Amino acid sequence: MAGHEAIVDRLTRSHRNSFTSVRLDRLVERRDDPQWVRTTLQLPGTRILPMWRGRGLINPDRPGEEVIYLEHGSLAQESARLTLLGRDSEHHYFALPVDDPLREQLLEAQPGAAFHELRRAAIGVHEKHAGILAYAKAMLYWQYRNAFCGFCGSANRVESAGHRLKCLNPDCGRESFPRIDPSIIVLVTHGDACLLGRNARWPERRFSALAGYVEPGESLEDAVTREVYEESGVRLSSLSYVSSQPWPFPSSAMCGFNAEAASRNCTPTDEIEELRWFTAAGLASAIENDEIRVPPPVSIAFQLISDWFERQGGKPLEPLVRASGSWIARKGIK
Ligand SMILES: [Zn+2]
Repeated sequence: MAGHEAIVDRLTRSHRNSFTSVRLDRLVERRDDPQWVRTTLQLPGTRILPMWRGRGLINPDRPGEEVIYLEHGSLAQESARLTLLGRDSEHHYFALPVDDPLREQLLEAQPGAAFHELRRAAIGVHEKHAGILAYAKAMLYWQYRNAFCGFCGSANRVESAGHRLKCLNPDCGRESFPRIDPSIIVLVTHGDACLLGRNARWPERRFSALAGYVEPGESLEDAVTREVYEESGVRLSSLSYVSSQPWPFPSSAMCGFNAEAASRNCTPTDEIEELRWFTAAGLASAIENDEIRVPPPVSIAFQLISDWFERQGGKPLEPLVRASGSWIARKGIK
């Protein structure tokens, strides 16, 4: 499928990954304009995304509109806590951190809805709204984790419509900005087979591509080489970047690679308890027999595996996995 590779460029590949909120104009130039923010909050089309402990309010019985947004009216007193996310052609979007009392109010007002964990809920949510949820989750997590200044320990204040924190100690006054953790994920292949591993902490039968955090002083490529060796003992002969994905669990930027191994010699480690090489036919039969389960389609891991599978056999992987039922059983949205 060389032709398929040639026409899908890296930008397209990254936009295909779940949680990329590419459809929003982030309105960077408006963040420090409080008057504009106040005016925009009064507009009828403005949508406020409530988020409780990183979970969005979702009603799975509203296909295409599963994610629930609030209007400003009853929440006027919450304006100072709102984070500007951006706008699309119809709406402006803000995120609101929800405490326990407000959570109870919202649940009472929205029968059938509940606050769902994003990684599971995203399988059933329209991809545009999954991207907005992921963006909001990462922003609110950053604010929560940085309530206090990392230099002097004084309280931080949220500024710039949620996008800047400023230390309230006048002798310090340090400003800080949202941070993400670069991570790598890599599908290692050798000839006609790919290497998948099983982390001891994962759901039963789950196998996936190898992954890990980039350490200080490393390039992304260094991290790929090190992680693959640490997790499997495999040495690489080549690697290439594929695409990236925001991964707000809690705050990663996933950088996806393909790599070719020098040989198939591999050794399980404390972290990866089992490693297996699969040909495309072997992977298809292991999935059909529910012997192994691949990650859900919202993950870049699935994209790397399914792209490889399609290049090998000319057939998409997703229908095969759906037919096996393994995602539906763990979907968890209902
Ligand atoms: Zn400080």
